[in-house]
Amino acid sequence: MYLSIATAGKVIWVLGVVAWAIIRRPHARRAKRLQVVSDRRTPSEAVGLAAGLLGLSIIPAIYVATGFPLAADYPPHLWAVAFGAVLLVCAMWVFRRTHKALGKNWSITLEIREKHKLISQGPYALVRHPMYTSFLLMGLGQAFLLSNWVAGLAGLLGAGILFFLRVDKEERMMLDVFGPEYQAYMDKTKRIIPYLY
Ligand code: SAH
Repeated sequence: MYLSIATAGKVIWVLGVVAWAIIRRPHARRAKRLQVVSDRRTPSEAVGLAAGLLGLSIIPAIYVATGFPLAADYPPHLWAVAFGAVLLVCAMWVFRRTHKALGKNWSITLEIREKHKLISQGPYALVRHPMYTSFLLMGLGQAFLLSNWVAGLAGLLGAGILFFLRVDKEERMMLDVFGPEYQAYMDKTKRIIPYLY
């Protein structure tokens, strides 16, 4: 019984990764074709991106494939896996909405593309960084889906590092490019949790 609940959590996590890849694929392909006007990539941005990638995909993928690190396993609970699945579905829903709203303004890193527009509709009407909200929700879902202290918590940690290393620079970049328009948008919105933060 233990084994099957744990396996269910792993399978759901893999389905989440597949959904994530399907949602972002067309945007990543289109982004390649659009000229970058301003590139704000820095070493700390690279560290953040690596932390996100490690925590939300590489570390849990190694765990799902090999069971490593076995010593960090704990007994799985059905309610935890079910709750993790709900969180993951919410995360994917938000992730998809951010991609639809950003459209051509999508970027994996801190960049401004030609004819970049400030988006303030859809999920961007509520918070300035809904995609990072979805990453944190994914990390939280992962923590409930994988009954392993290392692989489970790696996602939240990675997403948190990515968020804190990037958010100030991203807002500075947006202020430089959009000036008072972004300032007014900042005055109206929170960062990642509607009405709170
Ligand atoms: N921080 C946002 C977007 C992440 S993608 C979120 O969490 O949803 C990162 C890129 O999106 C940045 O390089 C920037 O070019 C772009 N971006 C961020 N906020 C934007 C906005 N409100 N409108 C248009 N582009 C935005």
